[in-house]
Amino acid sequence: MDRISIIVPCYNEEESLPLFYDEIIDIAEGMNEVSYELLFVNDGSKDNTLSVLKKISVSNERAKYISFTRNFGKEAAMLAGLQKASGDYVVIMDADLQHPVKLLPEMYQALKNEKIDCVCAKRVDREGDGKLRSFLTKHFYNIINKMSEIEMVDGAGDYRMMSRQMVDSVISFKEYNRYSKGLFSFVGFETKMIPYQNIGRATGSTKWSLFSLWKYAIDGVISFSNIPLVIASFSGILFCLLAFVLAIYTAIKTTIYGNPTSGWTTLVCIILFIGGLQMFFMGIIGQYIAKIYMEVKHRPVYIVKESNIESNHIKQKTEKEFA
Ligand code: UDP
Ligand code: MG
Repeated sequence: MDRISIIVPCYNEEESLPLFYDEIIDIAEGMNEVSYELLFVNDGSKDNTLSVLKKISVSNERAKYISFTRNFGKEAAMLAGLQKASGDYVVIMDADLQHPVKLLPEMYQALKNEKIDCVCAKRVDREGDGKLRSFLTKHFYNIINKMSEIEMVDGAGDYRMMSRQMVDSVISFKEYNRYSKGLFSFVGFETKMIPYQNIGRATGSTKWSLFSLWKYAIDGVISFSNIPLVIASFSGILFCLLAFVLAIYTAIKTTIYGNPTSGWTTLVCIILFIGGLQMFFMGIIGQYIAKIYMEVKHRPVYIVKESNIESNHIKQKTEKEFA
């Protein structure tokens, strides 16, 4: 019998969780050919998410939880889930019911019968998202696909079921700045897309502000592309050429017409423009350096405060570390 691990990152989801749990249990218990494990990751919620999770795990021994010391972000929560999952197949889904639970049997069947390693649910519209957000997201995918060698599909999110082999590959990446959408594509297993209509959140509100989405987008570009650095170098060369042409032009003009002191305004504009451009590109280089800085520190991606899985194992590990 195959085992499926269902990973659910939760951040302030006390209202959605009971609804989600009812739905997932319904579907998971109905899949007779598999046994399931629910793996909730409490990502430092400030509401009662943890006590809801504890209640669930008391009533159902297949429900496990990991609770972080603070909010480390969804990427960290997904990593923790993937590392702790023990199933032959692993699926990641949101707690807000935006990922239709009823797709699970279909995803499992596709993985099993078509002998592929990943089935990803792809939303075909952006119902429930703001206009500006939809617009920016669409263009982000256009840009990132042009800039990086891997392909990221618009609408293909984190709701995906993977084989054990693929999960092992994804967690073998030891990087601190994790951009899972890119990693899932980078590992390169055959992926099937299953389309679904987007649905609004069951309760609560999205944890993503436009600013955090912007930061996430920059992370994606920097993690998977060197093109911004290439643009910086090429602009440098281009402006050197322009300066050279301008020098020749000025020399000729001065020889013919005299008056070498004119063009002060032009000069100021050029200095300001080039100065701005230099700062901009230094900023880009700085972004890469900041990422390198975080990588070399080798900080843990998340810290677990409590969990009901392998508690002995965790305890032993901590004891060993302190010995
Ligand atoms: N989430 C998380 N940590 C965070 C932010 C979000 O674990 O710092 C979880 C959240 O509880 C939800 C999922 O990630 O289960 C998706 O979050 P959200 O619905 O806010 O994102 P959206 O669907 O708007 O992209
Ligand atoms: Mg959501």
